Amino acid sequence: MIPFLDIKSINYQCRDELVEACARVIDSGWYIAGKELSAFEQAFADYCDTEFCIGVANGLDALTLTLRAWKELGSLNEGDEVIVPANTYIASVLAITENNLVPVFVEPNAETFNLSPVAIEAVIGPKTRVILPVHLYGQLADMPTILEMAECHGLLVLEDAAQAHGASLGGRKAGDWGHAAGFSFYPGKNLGALGDAGAITTNDAELAETLRALRNYGSYEKYKNLYQGVNSRLDEIQAAMLRVKLTYLGQHTEHRRCIAKRYIEGVTNPVVQLPHCRNDEQHVWHLFVVRCAQREALQKQLKIAGVETLIHYPVPPHKQSAYALYNDLSFPITERIHREVVSLPIGPTLLDHEVDSVIDALNSLDL
Ligand SMILES: *Cc1c(COP(=O)(O)O)cnc(C)c1O
Repeated sequence: MIPFLDIKSINYQCRDELVEACARVIDSGWYIAGKELSAFEQAFADYCDTEFCIGVANGLDALTLTLRAWKELGSLNEGDEVIVPANTYIASVLAITENNLVPVFVEPNAETFNLSPVAIEAVIGPKTRVILPVHLYGQLADMPTILEMAECHGLLVLEDAAQAHGASLGGRKAGDWGHAAGFSFYPGKNLGALGDAGAITTNDAELAETLRALRNYGSYEKYKNLYQGVNSRLDEIQAAMLRVKLTYLGQHTEHRRCIAKRYIEGVTNPVVQLPHCRNDEQHVWHLFVVRCAQREALQKQLKIAGVETLIHYPVPPHKQSAYALYNDLSFPITERIHREVVSLPIGPTLLDHEVDSVIDALNSLDL
């Protein structure tokens, strides 16, 4: 079976370095908020070309705590509205509702699947305070237009960059566009830890300070608590793993781009709709998502041909039981995307002949 993503083989590539880093942490006797964390935060800020990086426990916390920090700083109030793409992963929405803010779902651009500026403009109202673009599948949303709109209406921009480590548009990286950005280092992400981890990047010193306190019980200084914070820290072991993995991110991204290019050039079957990619941007291909009206049959035939595929995502947030309040809303583009998408195998250790087999299987589908 050609796996969708082989995380074990990815980590096996740098196993010796990971083991060495792990031993370094064990032998240091210091496991939380130490040198590994500050070194990783500095390295990841440098990678994103931002001034600050604040490590937290996971990607959901990165988004949740940033909105929380804006509340503490007085830039946001409960009940304010946050514009979010309807076709995102549920974490983007959970971060909003956890803060008692109101998600305002908008349809994506039907070609890129990313947040559509036209749709944003249509829902901006007196309670709108934040735009939360998601760089879905590793492709930047139309950030120049979104930033212009945000500036014009005095809105904050929080990027959900959980799928877009290193993606850029006109040379400017994901994480460096909004007032802040949330990243996830879940093991299957383009930069993956060996457990849970996440981070916020920002160029705003006050926000960075507030986040450093919020992730650590609301405390800047031991036993002095300014906020009712949480415990959401990126521990030393995971920071050490991420320092190793970050040195491989560039080559992993290049490999993903080569695979995407081969798929785009090789898949000629008209029943398979290929993803759209702007030519001034650097997509990082977290996922290679095609669309097909007969998705079930496609998945079944690929499985017989020995190709594993997944669906990102089968049910949009507004149709989840957790959001019964929004179940009656209708977003035809989003719902169609959720009905038709299939993610093909892509990853830093996928071999050329495996890519060829996937292409052959797609070109010989009989639907
Ligand atoms: C993975 C992901 C998250 C959440 O990250 P976790 O580290 O799993 O909490 C948020 N948003 C998007 C778009 C994601 O893909």
